[in-house]
Amino acid sequence: MDKLITGIHHITVLADDPQKNLDFYCGVLGLRLIKKTVNFDAPEVYHFYYGDETGQPGTILTFFPHKGITRGRRGKGMINTTGFSVPAESIGYWMERLKKFNIAFKGPVDRFEGETFIYFEDQDGVGLELVFNDADTRPGFTYGHIPPEHSVKGFYHAEIWADSEKPTAALLTGQMDHVLIAQKDNRYRYAATDAPGNYIDIIADPQSPRALKGGGSVDHIAFNTPNIETQLQAKEKITHQSLNPTHVYDRQYFKSIYFREPAGVLFEIATAGPGFQVDESKEHLGEGFKLPSWYEQYREQIEKAVIPITFNPEQYS
Ligand code: ZN
Repeated sequence: MDKLITGIHHITVLADDPQKNLDFYCGVLGLRLIKKTVNFDAPEVYHFYYGDETGQPGTILTFFPHKGITRGRRGKGMINTTGFSVPAESIGYWMERLKKFNIAFKGPVDRFEGETFIYFEDQDGVGLELVFNDADTRPGFTYGHIPPEHSVKGFYHAEIWADSEKPTAALLTGQMDHVLIAQKDNRYRYAATDAPGNYIDIIADPQSPRALKGGGSVDHIAFNTPNIETQLQAKEKITHQSLNPTHVYDRQYFKSIYFREPAGVLFEIATAGPGFQVDESKEHLGEGFKLPSWYEQYREQIEKAVIPITFNPEQYS
């Protein structure tokens, strides 16, 4: 049987200032803003989607920027680190670049075979890594201010902290098509597809405090499913585990169900399509302020409620 889950779709984070968010992720890291919309469940808050050129699953990092939000706390029951994949030879380039923008980092450190990382945080304390490797065959994206041979290719991995790896691992391997592909000390790496962009690392760390949700916290991680049929089949398997998945939400660019995994992280299963070109062409992704049809009648109020933002890549070359 074909897999119902093929890897990571997107990761969504709670942020503070929207302009600083844009400056960091488009400017410093060079991700493409592929969609500027609102949180469909709280339309006075932006929803920014960043990714590769077209926002393919496995590259999509999204934010709900809410200026003045109280900071969260890292810990168990949360994704505390999100890794981006970059070429092995780019390590010098990125260390220089982070220094240039006064971003402190730890490393470089070798982890698994063929994998070296540096760790840093954004202005809200979001835990990030650049993972240098030669295994990733995806092209990167650049606005032109980062040389194409150094640009980010998408996610490398996401890191969940938990008391024990076992309950989350049982769900990933039993119902979500993942297998254990590597293990070192208390790090257990699972993947539905064994390639950068899809790794879920579970850190078994009973000593950590429990995470508190707030600014700088990951809200949820979405896994990719090919289509609405496979989504319903996946939902069926989750329901049998008494994890109470939600009904299917229309997120305009994909369809989604949500449930909480045993360690406490909110999981989503999102369809690969229809994707971000349903309301903007490839050349113009991220340029408009897009609202789903059911919010268009409130456009004027919504535009007044959000803070205007601008981005000029040349300031970040
Ligand atoms: Zn989501």
